[in-house]
Parts: sequence; structure tokens; C-alpha cells
Amino acid sequence: MRTKTLILSIMLLLATGIAEAKKVRVVAHRGYWNTEGSARNSISALNNAMAIKAYGSEFDVNITSDGILIVHHDAKTTNGLLIEDHTFAELREKAPKLKNDELIPTLDDYLTAWNHNKKTKLVFEIKPQSSPELETKMVEACLEALRKNSVTDKEVEFISFSYHVCKELKRLRPTAIVMPLSTTSAEPEQMFKDGMDGFDLHYSVLREHPEWVELAKSQKKIVNVWTVNQEDVMREMIALGVDYITTDEPVLLQQVIKGKKK
Ligand code: MG
Repeated sequence: MRTKTLILSIMLLLATGIAEAKKVRVVAHRGYWNTEGSARNSISALNNAMAIKAYGSEFDVNITSDGILIVHHDAKTTNGLLIEDHTFAELREKAPKLKNDELIPTLDDYLTAWNHNKKTKLVFEIKPQSSPELETKMVEACLEALRKNSVTDKEVEFISFSYHVCKELKRLRPTAIVMPLSTTSAEPEQMFKDGMDGFDLHYSVLREHPEWVELAKSQKKIVNVWTVNQEDVMREMIALGVDYITTDEPVLLQQVIKGKKK
């Protein structure tokens, strides 16, 4: 009888574990770029993320001196041009192409290629700028671009290392989903008081603060974690109870979630 109960308990635990894993959502970090002919933050990486039906395609947005939003990770181009000090025309002329020979995409290019994909959300990172004023201007420009393209709150989730950007997003579009990327300005308790919808933290931070996962769950907030590329860490984060995992290895993560990778 005891053995039967034990077996049943183990089966239940396993089933719960699998159910937990199945709920975890895959966010392709800078798109699914880790394939032949692709590059980080390229249209090709977005297309790949949509092709594998990732929950989200993460991308980074910066702004040129003439107010054009471009998909680019660093504040400078790879040949050292500070994006906020150069016009879009100057960048098109002087900035190198991406590794796969694509031009640096504009946000509009990116939104056009995405085309309201039903499976893959935009995970929109607004990069910190040199002043709060410029960050506010940038938030306004990003929201305007989304409005022009009829992107709904269900289709996009925002992340940023700048807490000012996060708060401005909430002030200007209170229904937007916003998750800070660090705890430098506010820890989760304060984030939630400020109306944030969750957080997106480095996995080492969550390892140190597993109680933040519980706090988020008790308030129905989203727990996202970056950037998890190793299988053992994927499993560790799934066991910790995260909702999303952001990764450069989205296919591997999908296999881990489906239990195809043992
Ligand atoms: Mg990013």
C-alpha cells in the first residue's frame, strides 16, 4: 500500500514538473540569430523566431539624432559612431552592415516584417539614453510607432534597463506590459508598487533571490529571466518557477520544455 502511495506521489510530482515546464515561454534573445546566414537583431533573426513559433522575439531599440528608431543593441555602431549623435542618413552611409549583410533595420522595417504575427510577440527593449529627457522623447516615439502600426497591448511587452523608461512607458501607456531588466533603481516590491507587470532579471540574480519569484507569483506578476543558454540552467530556472526564459538557444529550450532533451 505504501509503495502504491509512493509511486502515485512520484507520478504526481513528475506531472506537476512537466506541467510547470510546459507553461514556460521561450523568448528568442535578439531574435533567433544563432543560425547560418542570420545575425543578432536582424530581420532574418525575427523571421527565424517566428518560424519556430517562439513566444517572443526580443530586440533592442536606439534612436538617431533625427528621431529615427533603429534596431541596434549598443549605443555605438560597430565602427564607433554614437547613434544618438548621428542622423539616420549618416548611419546608413557610414555604419557597417550586419554580419549577414543586412542593413541595420529601422523599427518600422522590423514591425513590417513581424506583421502582427499571431504566435510571436514583440519583446521590445528600449535602450537607456544619455539623459532622462531623451529617454522620454524616445518612449514617446516608440509608442507613436506602435500606434501608427496598430500594435495592441497583447502583441508587445516592453523591457528596459532604465527605470525612467519603464516609468515613462507606464505613465504614457498605462495598459502596456512593462518589465524592468535590473534592480539597480528598484527591487521587485517597489517595481510592483509602481505598477510594473513583472521583471526580467539575470538568472544569477534570481538564484540569489528565489523569494522574488514567490513575491511575483503572489501578485500575478511575470517572471522573465535572461540570458539562459545552458541546458542545466534552463532546467534550474524552470524548477524555480519562472514564466519566461530569454535565450540565444530557443530551439534547445523548446526541446527541454517538451521533454525531448533528457
Ligand atoms: Mg536586449
